[in-house]
Amino acid sequence: MKARLNVAVIGGGWAGLAAAVELVTAGAEVTVFEAAKQLGGRARSVETHGHRLDNGQHLLIGAYRETLRLIQTVGANPEHLLRRLPLDLHYPGAGFRLRLPRLPAPLNLAIGLFAAQGAGLGEKFATVRFMRYLQGCNYRLATDGTVAELLDRHGQQGKLRRYLWEPLCLAALNTAPQHASAQIFANVLRDSLGARRADTDLLLPATDLDRVFPSAAADYVRAHGGKIRLTTRVEQIRPQLHIEGELFDRVILALAPQHAVSLLAGQPETAAIADMLAEYTYEPIGTAYAGYPPEVSLPCPMLGLDGGREGGLGQWVFDRGTLCATPGVMSFVLSAQGAWDQRNNEVLVAILHGELEEALARPLPQPLWHWVIRERRATFSCRPDLPRPTARTPLRDLWLAGDYTCADYPATLEGAVRSGITAARGALRSRLASQ
Ligand SMILES: Cc1cc2nc3c(=O)[nH]c(=O)nc-3n(C[C@H](O)[C@H](O)[C@H](O)COP(=O)(O)OP(=O)(O)OC[C@H]3O[C@@H](n4cnc5c(N)ncnc54)[C@H](O)[C@@H]3O)c2cc1C
Repeated sequence: MKARLNVAVIGGGWAGLAAAVELVTAGAEVTVFEAAKQLGGRARSVETHGHRLDNGQHLLIGAYRETLRLIQTVGANPEHLLRRLPLDLHYPGAGFRLRLPRLPAPLNLAIGLFAAQGAGLGEKFATVRFMRYLQGCNYRLATDGTVAELLDRHGQQGKLRRYLWEPLCLAALNTAPQHASAQIFANVLRDSLGARRADTDLLLPATDLDRVFPSAAADYVRAHGGKIRLTTRVEQIRPQLHIEGELFDRVILALAPQHAVSLLAGQPETAAIADMLAEYTYEPIGTAYAGYPPEVSLPCPMLGLDGGREGGLGQWVFDRGTLCATPGVMSFVLSAQGAWDQRNNEVLVAILHGELEEALARPLPQPLWHWVIRERRATFSCRPDLPRPTARTPLRDLWLAGDYTCADYPATLEGAVRSGITAARGALRSRLASQ
């Protein structure tokens, strides 16, 4: 038997890169095969109008512990790359603001909630009762259902439902509350509002996503003897783990579910997983970038738009000028299926521009340029009781990674990173077991 485990990681998104980092750190030989000409997958950087932007505006939170740990492992400093801010849900147009003070949990939540502007006292008490119910059952619901049903059952109505729970559901699960899994939502609350104060912090990228993790991860993998093969689409993984002429001891398939299907369907042992994934449905995310004159900025890095009202579309707008030193650049985020996706780019940007003016209660100059990215299959639709495969497959030498395999979480960067780590550790352990 060779001295070092030789692993092929298929897919160079955050899951595949996390797996590769974990493997080379443990001394394994690694080759990452990535179909695209760049790393990062759904969280990759793109260039337009002289700016480095992302294929979708991303938001991390303090609870992304494994992501933060790996960013450090590869030699980067999360405190420089991500701007840490206390949770601040500010909808100026609707007169709503919930800001958590920098106090230990659960005091931060209690004080933030009772000081929230724009919500009545009755709603605030109902919210406290809801959080206490979730804590009481350890965030484990007896049965899964939709987030809307959960909120109805626990009397969550009014402003806090509209500007706290529903936006959190959309932002975290990228699935509308009437379709989203209540259990996965409860898991997200357990690890954020129900955890340490630092876990509730927002971490806003202060540079493009490639610099936050993928490029430093690739440098780290190469520095530890690993190889990265870009523009290399792997079409099949059997027989005998021969990929591009090389024979591997283990394969980690770190793809989005829709791409994993065809590779898994190719062999009888994994056909059942392929069948499971073939049933998944997906949700889009739109990011509309607007380049305003450089003097235009927002009163805080992230603002809520009241897209839920009649004819409204916007959800969140980020001031990338302040965040990423690209003055005047705003990114509007549009999560999950919705009316926004029926508008063409010009109309969409014009509506979002109008909503931003309304929220700020002042006219703005017209954007000098705009650019809309619609990721049709941004994430799997996070429905109640959605079956999720584990990292382990019936084949000892084949492991799965990718956000969809982190069963506790919706499709997120943290889910992707955790899945990569789990698959890497599984592959390493399976080697030990077979020695
Ligand atoms: C617009 C948008 C906004 C988002 N916002 C957030 C957010 O704010 N916060 C958050 O936490 N998450 C967010 N997400 C989700 C997050 O980006 C994903 O959960 C995460 O990036 C998934 O990583 P992954 O490695 O599992 O999959 P992917 O990123 O899909 O990586 C898979 C890789 O495999 C490659 N590949 C495919 N087929 C092959 C093949 N046959 N051979 C070789 N390579 C192949 C692909 O090119 C890709 O690079 C967002 C996603 C999108 C699209």
